[in-house]
Amino acid sequence: MTLGWHVPMAPVWRRLPRPVRTLALWSGALLVAAVGAGSAAVWSERSSIDGLRSTGEHRLALYVNNLQSAIQRHDYLPFVLSMNADIRELLRQPGDHALTDRVNRYLATVTREAQSATLFVMDAAGLTLAASNWDTPQSFVDSNYGFRPYFRQAATLGRGSFYAVGVTTGTPGHFLSHAVYDGGRIVGVVAVKVSLDGLEEAWRFGAERVLVTDDAGVVFLSSEPAWRFSTLGAPSPADARRMDETRQYAGIELTPLPVLERRDVDGAAVLTIEDPQGQGATGYLAQAVPIPELGWHVLVLSDTAPVRAAVRAAASVAVFAAVFLLLVVLYLRQRRRRIREGLLAREALERANTELRRARDEQEIRIAERTADLRSANDRLMREVAERERAERVLREAQDELVQAGKLATLGQMAAGITHELNQPLAAIRTFADNAVVLAERGLHDDLRDNLQRIGQLVARMARITGQLKAFARKTKARAEPIPVARAVQNALILIEQRLRLEKVELDCTLPDGEVDVVFEEVRLEQVLINLYRNALDAMRGSPVRRLEVVIEDTGERVLIRVRDSGPGIPDDVKPRIFEAFFTTKDAGGLGLGLPISAGIVRDAGGQLTAANRDGGGAEFVVDLARAGVQKDAA
Ligand code: ADP
Repeated sequence: MTLGWHVPMAPVWRRLPRPVRTLALWSGALLVAAVGAGSAAVWSERSSIDGLRSTGEHRLALYVNNLQSAIQRHDYLPFVLSMNADIRELLRQPGDHALTDRVNRYLATVTREAQSATLFVMDAAGLTLAASNWDTPQSFVDSNYGFRPYFRQAATLGRGSFYAVGVTTGTPGHFLSHAVYDGGRIVGVVAVKVSLDGLEEAWRFGAERVLVTDDAGVVFLSSEPAWRFSTLGAPSPADARRMDETRQYAGIELTPLPVLERRDVDGAAVLTIEDPQGQGATGYLAQAVPIPELGWHVLVLSDTAPVRAAVRAAASVAVFAAVFLLLVVLYLRQRRRRIREGLLAREALERANTELRRARDEQEIRIAERTADLRSANDRLMREVAERERAERVLREAQDELVQAGKLATLGQMAAGITHELNQPLAAIRTFADNAVVLAERGLHDDLRDNLQRIGQLVARMARITGQLKAFARKTKARAEPIPVARAVQNALILIEQRLRLEKVELDCTLPDGEVDVVFEEVRLEQVLINLYRNALDAMRGSPVRRLEVVIEDTGERVLIRVRDSGPGIPDDVKPRIFEAFFTTKDAGGLGLGLPISAGIVRDAGGQLTAANRDGGGAEFVVDLARAGVQKDAA
């Protein structure tokens, strides 16, 4: 079924909603089952009917043979008796009692021997002269049977036969007759009544119902007693009249055989006949064969129950087969669906895999690109770092140069002050020297010694000043080492001592109790401090109160050198720029290098230089450095 749908119908079929497909499938399956069951039923009915028919045919032949032999067995009797001398004599002398008696007894004997029902002799008019049952209440003697066809046939044609119900006895039988000739003339008729009751009795044990009908369609022999003397169709008026005249079924009411339905199955007649007891009906396959010489039909009715059973069985088998087929189809469908689903799942998996692989490839490509980017960025960075380092080196060199330049500039500025500083002791030395000459001349040795000592002190002071100068001007490459902060602060102060005095600046220096060291190149720290002192002095030049405060604060971890002045402070617009190189607000002599160089030096030493305005006015610069011991410990 599904095979045919593969090519043209598959798309249409697939597009149908699933419930519709299921419904269609089930309807189809039901249709197939119904058609299958129907065909199986028809086929099995036909084949069973065929079987039944061939059995029936055999039986029919058997029954016909039965019947014919039962009749033929007596066929010779009338002829043989017609030759009997006594019977002939009786017909010549009908009143002879002794002869009649002898013939009666003879007939009775023959009847017994031949097992026939009755034998009797009629004269030419049909009057019975002698009979085998002469001594019974139903004796035929003296009865006239001239109206009976078997008599008429024999009287005219020489012999006859006829089935009828006995007028005298009321029992049915088949009459066979033969004419008795005397000198070529028919003088009487000898007849034998053959009882077929035994035959009926025997047939009753057969599987089939056997009926024998006469030419008018009257059932006169039947294995089913209730159907005897029924008719197959109503007898024609002529037949009815003849039956009446011959008194064939005298006194018996003929009723039609209760055939409820008649149908034709494959050329065979199937009759449904009401059961004799009137309860239900039975189907029979009807088969008939004529016995032309008797004008009869033998009818065999075979019960179709086996056919019905076979039909039912075949239909059930077909239904089972259809159900089985359907189950197989469903199973195959299910299996195909499962396989298809499996395939789809595998395809999806493969697709996902491919996707994954592609994504991974892309990822790898991206990573490779990223790595390349990173590498190139790294290279760039390295180059930049190298560049920076080089620039820094250049800068440091430049800075060193600048420091030197700054120092020289400071030296230049300091030159006047230093000259003054040296001139003072020089003048004093000159005076003391002059005095010494006078004191030596006068012999005042004690005063002279005192004088010379003062000269020595002054020289020492001058040496100190020039020593400081030399140290400041030197282009140092000294190593940073722990130095006492207080010493640097004081050494730097010595260099501005003269300015403090000239400009009447009050100095307030607060030093720590013990020694506090920082790791610094001493000269550089002094240079930073001198810069800060000088800026403070510059700022306070126009101020009414001039006070320079230098405070060394030891926090334990840090050392803060605070340089405070009582100047105007740093204006807000200036403040962000004071650490810029070459930024100055000073009209003359300002280079704008002091603070940036100082900040650079402090930074190099790991510290920080910051500026702020004080609450009470003035500025405060703070050199923030790590305490040497702490730094060492930390290291
Ligand atoms: P210069 O002293 O040659 O001007 P600096 O770098 O030493 O160069 O100082 C930059 C500027 O910072 C000064 O011109 C001044 O305006 C300001 N400045 C420095 N110290 C102080 C201070 N103590 N009070 C106010 N302004 C200051």
